[in-house]
Amino acid sequence: MITERLFYQDSWMKEFSGEVLECRQEKQGYRVRLDRTAFYPEGGGQPYDTGFLNDIPVLQVQEIEGEIWHFLEKPMEPGMKVTGKIDWERRFDLMQQHSGEHIVSGMIHERYGYNNIGFHMGPETITIDFDGEIPEEELKEIEYQANKYVWENHPIEITYPTKEGREKLPYRSKKELTGEVRIVTWPGADMCACCGVHVKNSGEIGQIMLLSSQRAKGGVRIEMLCGIRALQHSNQLKEQNRKISNLLSAKWKETAQAVERLQEEYQNTRFQLIGMEYEKIERITREKAGQGDQLLFEHQMSGESGRKLAAEVMETCGGRCGVFCGDDQKGYRYAIGEKNGDLREFVKKMNQKLQGRGGGKPFFVQGSVQASEEEIRNFFENGEE
Ligand SMILES: [Zn+2]
Repeated sequence: MITERLFYQDSWMKEFSGEVLECRQEKQGYRVRLDRTAFYPEGGGQPYDTGFLNDIPVLQVQEIEGEIWHFLEKPMEPGMKVTGKIDWERRFDLMQQHSGEHIVSGMIHERYGYNNIGFHMGPETITIDFDGEIPEEELKEIEYQANKYVWENHPIEITYPTKEGREKLPYRSKKELTGEVRIVTWPGADMCACCGVHVKNSGEIGQIMLLSSQRAKGGVRIEMLCGIRALQHSNQLKEQNRKISNLLSAKWKETAQAVERLQEEYQNTRFQLIGMEYEKIERITREKAGQGDQLLFEHQMSGESGRKLAAEVMETCGGRCGVFCGDDQKGYRYAIGEKNGDLREFVKKMNQKLQGRGGGKPFFVQGSVQASEEEIRNFFENGEE
């Protein structure tokens, strides 16, 4: 006996009663076949339904060699009466996404002649691949037309035309079809061979949101969301924008401008800081002229400025100049220079002793050490031997 497919009779059926025909043990758990079911098995890009048979969770539903199997943790006796309950939130979400995908694919097919060559319903977003490019700015227009179609609340039409009847129909299909073919039509928007379950009226989709389009495989990949996912997405955006708006004390429509101003201020502050560091470098260089070997700790200075400081001081101090930027917790970045000197041996020893790494030219080296200021000072004073 073939299982009656209740999901094709009524896609809004959330609960049904039936009888167990067969139960088989699997490596893990059991699989059960019923005389009738409203559980949609995976197929046509649409994931399977989950829910309950009596009080046993239905973990997954698959069509295997034309039969629909419900995968359970516990067995069920053949002949047993069952009440099936579908996880409706999951199913309705999947119907919203799938129906929305058809309408968008149909409209793009009509407008550009492109085919849907790949369709993925992920847990977060849906992606559709088309075999041609769509300018980003035209997506808005497609999105508007698709939503208008939702608002107009068109009823779906599902037919099973004969082979001859089918030949006259301009339906979309990914492959050559044989046997009974189910044609899902959104009048005026799409006609497509499909085995999935759909909403009954386009209004049930709620909203269609085209998120992005990216070039892929010589065509374009569109990322979209429908119904509840579109609502959740806009709620996340609202929440993010609300936080930014509060942090920047900006009106919600002016957060981008506020970020621009903040960036500008940040750049100015950075330039000021660099200017101040350069002034400091000049001052220290003047102070240290002719003073011989130098060991300088600059806890606030950037490594880049530290390098500049070492390079400037070594020119005039008349000895070796080491600059260490950082702190005892994170370690220090160093730059050491000696005009016409050869620091290679010295730095090799220093890196060994102070857990450091780095190198450079004989007269100028850079790197980092994992050591405290005290350990570094000790090394410079007497650690060479
Ligand atoms: Zn479909």
